[in-house]
Amino acid sequence: MKIKNYYSPNADRKKRSINSIKIIIIHYTGMQSERESIIRLCSPKTKVSSHFLINQNGKVYRFVQDNQIAWHAGKSCWGKYKNLNKNSIGIELVNKGHQFGYTNFKKNQLLSLIKICKILVKKYKIKKRNIIGHSDIAPLRKIDPGEKFPWKQLSKKNIGIWHSSKSSLLRKFRRIKISSKEDKIKFVKNLKKIGYCFPINNKSFFVKIVKAFQRHYRKEVINGFLDKECLIIAENLSKKL
Ligand SMILES: [Zn+2]
Repeated sequence: MKIKNYYSPNADRKKRSINSIKIIIIHYTGMQSERESIIRLCSPKTKVSSHFLINQNGKVYRFVQDNQIAWHAGKSCWGKYKNLNKNSIGIELVNKGHQFGYTNFKKNQLLSLIKICKILVKKYKIKKRNIIGHSDIAPLRKIDPGEKFPWKQLSKKNIGIWHSSKSSLLRKFRRIKISSKEDKIKFVKNLKKIGYCFPINNKSFFVKIVKAFQRHYRKEVINGFLDKECLIIAENLSKKL
């Protein structure tokens, strides 16, 4: 596939072993324009970068080589991995984001994303459960790529995981309160199995993790409230792992 190579200084100088590449993290740029985003990801002042950026027409840019650590994840955690820059490839999708006018991701943009992911999965044997969003690994700080990102559609291409519960059935359990503490414990256990990290027992933290989960797997209502539909989805997902 055609890739336009740019250079970003925002990466570790030291090369990494390609065996350390385990995760793909999807972002949106969250800026007014594509041009502005590219400048930001390549300017030495910003200290942020990504391996790839895909614009809305599907054009792909590379800023950092795979064997270098790009600075895109920040403080983050997924399963046994912490501070994920060292273990991941970061892909930015051009989108104004929640702050400047969040739009649907474009068809050609997604087609290019699928192509890149397939190449990376094959090259580095990345598990589909480890293709995730920035909000999944940093739920306290981040909401990208957001609820418009089509995880369900991509899971059909083996990118990311999705549940197999019928949506017509699930719908009945939306906003239905869970009845017991055991259910909540089960939910947390399932989320941990999926990869979400719960470092401290703090109520606002829990709400944000539920929101991150909803943004990814139950985008119709993102309220941080653990309902029965979320419970069933998490249970179903964890059974696939
Ligand atoms: Zn991000």
